[in-house]
Amino acid sequence: MYKVAVIGSGFSGLASACFLAKNGYEVSVFEKNEDVGGRARSFHSRGFTFDMGPSWYWMPDVFERFFNQFGKTTSDYYTLKRLDPSYRVIFSEKEHLDIPANRKKLGELFEKIESGSEKKLKDFLTEAAFKYEEGVKKLVYMPSLSPIEFIRGDVLKGFFRIQLLSSIAKDIRSRFKDPKIQSILEFPSLFLGATPENTPALYSLMNYADIELGTWYPEGGMVKIVDGMKRLAEDLGVKIFTNSNVEKISVKNKTLDGLYINNTFTPFNLVVSSADYHFTETHLLEKEHQSYSEKYWNSRTLAPSAIIYYLGISKKVKNLRHHNLFFDEDLKKYASELYDNPKWPSKPLFYVCAPSKTDETVAPKGKENLFILIPVATGLKNDTEELRRKYLKIAINRIEKSTKTTIWSHIEYEKSYSVSNFIEDYNSYKGNAYGLANTLKQTAFLKPKIKSKKVKNLYYAGQLTVPGPGVPPSLISGEVTAQYITKNHPNHETVI
Ligand SMILES: Cc1cc2nc3c(=O)[nH]c(=O)nc-3n(C[C@H](O)[C@H](O)[C@H](O)COP(=O)(O)OP(=O)(O)OC[C@H]3O[C@@H](n4cnc5c(N)ncnc54)[C@H](O)[C@@H]3O)c2cc1C
Repeated sequence: MYKVAVIGSGFSGLASACFLAKNGYEVSVFEKNEDVGGRARSFHSRGFTFDMGPSWYWMPDVFERFFNQFGKTTSDYYTLKRLDPSYRVIFSEKEHLDIPANRKKLGELFEKIESGSEKKLKDFLTEAAFKYEEGVKKLVYMPSLSPIEFIRGDVLKGFFRIQLLSSIAKDIRSRFKDPKIQSILEFPSLFLGATPENTPALYSLMNYADIELGTWYPEGGMVKIVDGMKRLAEDLGVKIFTNSNVEKISVKNKTLDGLYINNTFTPFNLVVSSADYHFTETHLLEKEHQSYSEKYWNSRTLAPSAIIYYLGISKKVKNLRHHNLFFDEDLKKYASELYDNPKWPSKPLFYVCAPSKTDETVAPKGKENLFILIPVATGLKNDTEELRRKYLKIAINRIEKSTKTTIWSHIEYEKSYSVSNFIEDYNSYKGNAYGLANTLKQTAFLKPKIKSKKVKNLYYAGQLTVPGPGVPPSLISGEVTAQYITKNHPNHETVI
């Protein structure tokens, strides 16, 4: 039987391990950290449970599809609740909007802000639905190794309608004139790691995900998805090894023959690396076996890094929803400090998650669990305690003003996480939080490939390859890589 190693136990690693095990391979997962889940790990302290990374459960159909392929459903592993309102957008101390889960109500809200926008929203969402069908049901499951894959009747037919070549900002701004509506509709593309000006209009499929498919929450937190996938993988026979640092990929005659893990060599026939792609290439492989140069990586647009605060508050914080977007400063200036002229931001936008508004298991009774995320540029140095405190004060000050309540003096637990932690914990390139941005030049076959160009039996999955950043894309990435391997290395064949 083929012996396959998967490096990393994030969503993409666990997904590829599940599919490969189902397809008959002997699969082992090696994770450097103590817990599985990668960027979606969680931790407990003082009665609070904090999800460390993702908090938005979007595209429920992608999760359902994943578990269905193993004869399971999401409800075998966790219970989902749809949030209503989906989220709150704060525009200033005095002004905010709650985004209703119901599409009709959202249309009515838009109409009050800009006359005629209810109808325009309907038209916009009709196109977004088409893009979702084309994009998420068809294009993202392609290995994207060559543009030739896309020269297919059914793909070409919809090519112009999916608007791969124009920006989402242009599309939205040509339809809606009110800046608040523009912000609400441009926000989902920020998940893809670039500015709306730099993100193809194809990704209004994210608006379909937001408005039509909804914002959900798995009871107990996002880590419940990780727990479910780990259980599924183990039931399929996958062996998972934590505290197992992969130090080197051994290659003989352009063929991988095994891994050095915690100083010990173990032979393998195939490897899927779901660790950060840049790290695998430049730290685990000798130069002659690397597919991409340092110059190539340096020219890529990474999704941002972040400063994150995990806070335990000794009281309930009024006037916050589960998800809160602080869009109360100038996005253009902030975006230039994120991408064009990277520096610690002068007036950042930020996001606050209060999962204890929905889930009483994540905070002690009468207390609030707050997660604050400030996106910052990748590659920034000196994320010192002092600097982190400075930004915490900025965020808390704005939250206090908007919620009209005191928070600072009620912080009973505080932990921060930033660029240097991403590098140390995940071997993240320049401390990126969620991979490579989905810009026009970095979509589909223009991303780093799932298959090594230099080493025959080395594959990649995860947020730096196709289809891109985010939990649903990472699940899809693991599946695409596993299915490609299954097709190209049938189990009876011998590679070494
Ligand atoms: C703060 C934050 C908020 C986010 N919010 C959302 C959200 O709300 N919704 C959403 O959909 N997405 C969100 N994302 C993005 C999403 O979490 C990621 O895209 C996804 O989890 C990435 O999964 P992955 O498998 O590609 O990588 P990872 O989760 O990074 O997994 C890679 C694993 O490889 C391991 N590894 C690295 N090097 C080695 C080595 N040498 N040996 C062994 N193991 C190694 C790492 O420790 C890690 O566990 C967020 C991400 C972050 C960081």
